[in-house]
Amino acid sequence: MAEKITPMMEQYYKIKQQYPDAFLFYRVGDFYELFEDDAVKGAKLLELTLTHRSNKSAKPIPMAGVPHLAVDSYINTLVDKGYKVAICEQLEDPKKAQGMVKRGIIQLVTPGTVINDNPDQAKESNYLTSLCSNSQGWGLTYCDLSTGESYATHLTSWEMIVNELLSLQTRELVYGETLTSDKQIFLKKAGITLSQPVKLSKEHAEVSYVTQQLHNQLEIAATKQLLAYLLATQKRSLAHLQVTQSYEPNQYLQMSHIVQTNLELIKSAKTGKKMGSLFWLLDKTSTAMGGRLLKSWIERPLISLSEIKSRQLVVTALFDDYFSREKIIKQLQGVYDLERLTGRVALGSANARELLQLADSLAVVPEIINILANSKNEVLNDFAQKIDPLKGIHDLIVKTIVENPPLSTKEGGIIKAGVSSQLDRYRDAMMNGKKWLADMANSEREKTGINNLRVGYNKVFGYYIEVTNSYKDKVPLDRYMRKQTLTNAERYITVELKEHEALILEAQDYSTDLEYELFTNLREDIKKYIPALQKLAKQLSSLDVLSTFSLLSEQNNYVCPQFSQDSSAINIVNGRHPVVEKVMSDEEYIPNDVKMDEQTNIFLITGPNMSGKSTYMRQLALIIIMAQMGCFIPADSAVLPIFDKIFTRIGAGDDLISGKSTFMVEMSEANIALKNATKRSLILFDEIGRGTATYDGMALAGAIIKYLHDKVGAKTLFATHYHELTDLDQELAHFKNIHVGATQENGHLIFLHKILPGAADQSYGIHVAQLAGLPTKVLREATHMLKQLEKHSDNQAAFSDEQLDLFGSSDQHKMSDEEQDVLTQIKNLYLNEITPLQVMQLVANW
Ligand code: ADP
Repeated sequence: MAEKITPMMEQYYKIKQQYPDAFLFYRVGDFYELFEDDAVKGAKLLELTLTHRSNKSAKPIPMAGVPHLAVDSYINTLVDKGYKVAICEQLEDPKKAQGMVKRGIIQLVTPGTVINDNPDQAKESNYLTSLCSNSQGWGLTYCDLSTGESYATHLTSWEMIVNELLSLQTRELVYGETLTSDKQIFLKKAGITLSQPVKLSKEHAEVSYVTQQLHNQLEIAATKQLLAYLLATQKRSLAHLQVTQSYEPNQYLQMSHIVQTNLELIKSAKTGKKMGSLFWLLDKTSTAMGGRLLKSWIERPLISLSEIKSRQLVVTALFDDYFSREKIIKQLQGVYDLERLTGRVALGSANARELLQLADSLAVVPEIINILANSKNEVLNDFAQKIDPLKGIHDLIVKTIVENPPLSTKEGGIIKAGVSSQLDRYRDAMMNGKKWLADMANSEREKTGINNLRVGYNKVFGYYIEVTNSYKDKVPLDRYMRKQTLTNAERYITVELKEHEALILEAQDYSTDLEYELFTNLREDIKKYIPALQKLAKQLSSLDVLSTFSLLSEQNNYVCPQFSQDSSAINIVNGRHPVVEKVMSDEEYIPNDVKMDEQTNIFLITGPNMSGKSTYMRQLALIIIMAQMGCFIPADSAVLPIFDKIFTRIGAGDDLISGKSTFMVEMSEANIALKNATKRSLILFDEIGRGTATYDGMALAGAIIKYLHDKVGAKTLFATHYHELTDLDQELAHFKNIHVGATQENGHLIFLHKILPGAADQSYGIHVAQLAGLPTKVLREATHMLKQLEKHSDNQAAFSDEQLDLFGSSDQHKMSDEEQDVLTQIKNLYLNEITPLQVMQLVANW
């Protein structure tokens, strides 16, 4: 039997059909309602009360609702969890509608298109990514809808795609082809929502300029797919979309997502928070857009010397003229997020307060130009020349919008007097009407002798005259009509009052409508200047980041690095780890040189645990990254080559997303470096081989070093505990030993944190274990075993191609695992701690 459904539910099902994979927020009066499965799931996710809509003959329909005023936070919660939300609005005034109110989807909010106003996320970009593929490879485009920026590239392998997706921290991927299930699972684990592409609508014509600078067919395809998706989900003007910039990953210093994570560029590896990362250290920017630009510079350091130099030039200028710098920083603090404000203007979501923020930001610009132009430094004078203050837009906004406008754009109170004579007339009418009310109240008081007679207003009855019960008998009932009775008062209307009420309310209606129209006209006018506003935003954000660099250089004693184009030598004098030196509380950071001449490619670093090997390696990487960002660096002086790629194997973190074991990750990272590094790359390997059995690991480590030495030629720092590897300096011409110094005093280990030439003489592992408080028994046994091993290795080639046994020389017969086990047990016995009977039992077991 067919179930009967109401016309409203019929409309609901029809719309829901088109958005099966989104939560449908269906507007009914002051609420958005969820029905059916959406309601059941939504009630759980949003902690709403699940109710049911009775449906006469059929079974009840699950239902849950959220008030329209609070809808944003509910939508954000769902989108944060990776869901999509289709917002279905009433498209006509229910009061004026004939029959069913017309409804339609006005926007599909998705993880990659949500614009979050949360101030915590002001320095985060939110990227939607689109991917296309053919037999040639992949085209990838990503876009931040809030600013309208987009970038496209083409790549040849899935690994490169994954790397881009993870580096961008993209939340949503539009991709049409089917992905294998393991790829899908991988993306899901990485928190990426997969979305199907949609057809390009005819509105495309308006944004077709976006692809105008692209030449690669895959990039064009991916960008069109992105535009189609944006148009279909946003259903509003996208005039702020900027021309898509094509890029090649090799235009920048390349670092995989894993490398960025290992080096803690954006987040601390331990906490996953910004605190403790390079971004945290450098982010003293004054504006949110400066913060976002800084982040992108950290992720993408330059490789073009001229581009690096032009940043250095401004940092130097602001360093020299610190007086101007201080003034600029102060001015920048008054600049709002111009980039996102511009986006809101284009999307039609900027309110009057935001337009005023735009104007306030623009008001600062002439002052900034002034400071730059009046500096004695020519570089700063040049910078001033390039900035257009867009004074016209500022004046237009300030002339139109009142000083403290309300949040709502539809309830009036936004437009200044004198902007529109029509509006002024409506306002006069309202004023006159209100004055008439006041006069009327006065004269009525006199006429009737009701001293506390007053005029009031409510939505149901409009204007009324109120008389308290004590004066009730004085009311002239020939003129007054009773409308409402309260406990201690009566409310009346008169014919005259109603006539004036109509005039006042009409004027009010007209006036708010007109204000809304004037406001949107203003927003449309500003839209014409979007490219100019975006350019200005970029200039101000660069100025913000560059002044920050200059300020940090002064505060932290950084110097401007030099680059040598024809030599691969590294010469850093007294380099420091920028983050570690900042977070160290009581101790002093010990600076270290990195002097690697043209002939040397590999440093093998030995030294005790906790002595500073890993800090030294990271320090080099961070100095290189900072240098290639155009920032100054923590050192007394530095000459560097320009690096093309950085590879690392640092830290013990398993690859959580793909679920590989530590050793597997270690080997795949080593593999990526061996395959992709060039002579211009930097490789940092911390204890490669540690994840497996000693000799196994040592053999691998040795072979990797030889390969890097003979075939790759990249600058490599290799920290190890395998002392046997230090002998490689006899064999390899471009290989050197260095070590971190430590001394012993009264049997205690003292770390010097100083890098010295040559190999360390012992690994001090047992001393570190002692520091960590391991039981004496364990320490004693370890010392004993160490002696045995050392005796053994004296009889052995330190690093030979033969497989080594733990106890005994390799020319002895090979022991079985059981024999090994027995031998170990015997060696581990503490004879004075067990009874003769126990010994007998053990021997019997063996
Ligand atoms: P390793 O890699 O040798 O085990 P780390 O590089 O992790 O050692 O350093 C251990 C600790 O030593 C660091 O957390 C830091 O506090 C300190 N340290 C390292 N290098 C220095 C230095 N140059 N000056 C001062 N302290 C340092």
